[in-house]
Amino acid sequence: MKAILHLTPTCNLACNYCYAAKVIDQKMSLETAKKAVDFVFKHGENSACISYFGGEPLLRWELIKKTTFYAEKISKETGKPVFFRMSTNGILFDEEILKFCRKHRILFAISLDGNQQAHDKHRITSDNQGTWKIIDKKLDLILKYNPHTVVGSVISPDTIKELPASMEYMWERGIRYLAHSPDFTNPLWTPELLDDLENSYRQMAQFYLARSRENKFFFFTLFDEKIKYHARGGLKPGDVCDFGVKKISVAPDGNIFPCVRFVSDDSDAKKYLIGNVYNGFNPKRQRLINKNRQPRPQCIQCDFNGRCSNYCGCTNWQTTGDILKVSPLLCAHERMLIPIADEIGKILWQEKNKAFLAKHYDIDENHFPLINTYDID
Ligand code: SF4
Ligand code: SF4
Repeated sequence: MKAILHLTPTCNLACNYCYAAKVIDQKMSLETAKKAVDFVFKHGENSACISYFGGEPLLRWELIKKTTFYAEKISKETGKPVFFRMSTNGILFDEEILKFCRKHRILFAISLDGNQQAHDKHRITSDNQGTWKIIDKKLDLILKYNPHTVVGSVISPDTIKELPASMEYMWERGIRYLAHSPDFTNPLWTPELLDDLENSYRQMAQFYLARSRENKFFFFTLFDEKIKYHARGGLKPGDVCDFGVKKISVAPDGNIFPCVRFVSDDSDAKKYLIGNVYNGFNPKRQRLINKNRQPRPQCIQCDFNGRCSNYCGCTNWQTTGDILKVSPLLCAHERMLIPIADEIGKILWQEKNKAFLAKHYDIDENHFPLINTYDID
């Protein structure tokens, strides 16, 4: 089982699309973090995974160190392996922290929205200063200690046109694991902007093709996730959006939710409380897992069902208020994106491209671990 620990709602940045801003104002105590570790070892059949999350988790560096030592101790006592993950904006990284992460195998994802024009539009300090220069300066050091660093990039309506240049910039800087997420909660999306986005995706697809033809190894979730689901014969609801089966989010007070997005002050989010690390799961957990496994009613006849992000109950809840109801924006996005991924997948398949086939059909996790092999243990 994997537990995402919300160590603090506080952040050193003030990104204007951040949902963590609405999170309950409380920090996790060491006692609760230890309880969460015990909980994961108890419920994980073969292993435990602890993931540090915020706000900005590095603001709780001492707590991270103590929790890591404690989890390693329990791992020795129980014989179950433990894995560590972290999602951070990366601003507070220094050599000492990176050495610790490497030594204790804390694999992390950092946030970087692309080049300066894209990043500084949203990822800002509380006094409105862009943060691209700070993170760009640290990238070499970060990649030195963790060459598998996953970079999370949010796509906003006003960063669409920067996407191809941003992808090139990140490639040049040495990033090989790139996870794009459109901000589906932004009310400014329009059909015209989706056309612009398609344009950018098509340019990025050419970049993907060119790097694949150089037999380079990389993973760009935008296209690779869609190709992967095709290669694996499609997904059913529940396959990816786990909703509390093997992955839980632990709020600062120890309350358990099925996903990070429900750790919030939102009154509706409280309906998704599935337990507490002190008292265990409640009966609602299984009811919600069963509900999330149901097909999305609007998707039953759709050819994209099984490769579409409609499975994400958390995104559905955030955008429509119902875990089974997909937003029209997400639907339109998937109808645009999947055919582009299929076009490049088909070309590389026909060309018998070695890197592409190794990535999707003959997966060798030693030289090229896929992002999801970092994910659920
Ligand atoms: S860095 Fe992350 S947690 Fe901090 S404000 Fe930005 S999005 Fe929110
Ligand atoms: S493209 Fe739209 S209708 Fe089709 S599976 Fe996705 S959300 Fe459902």
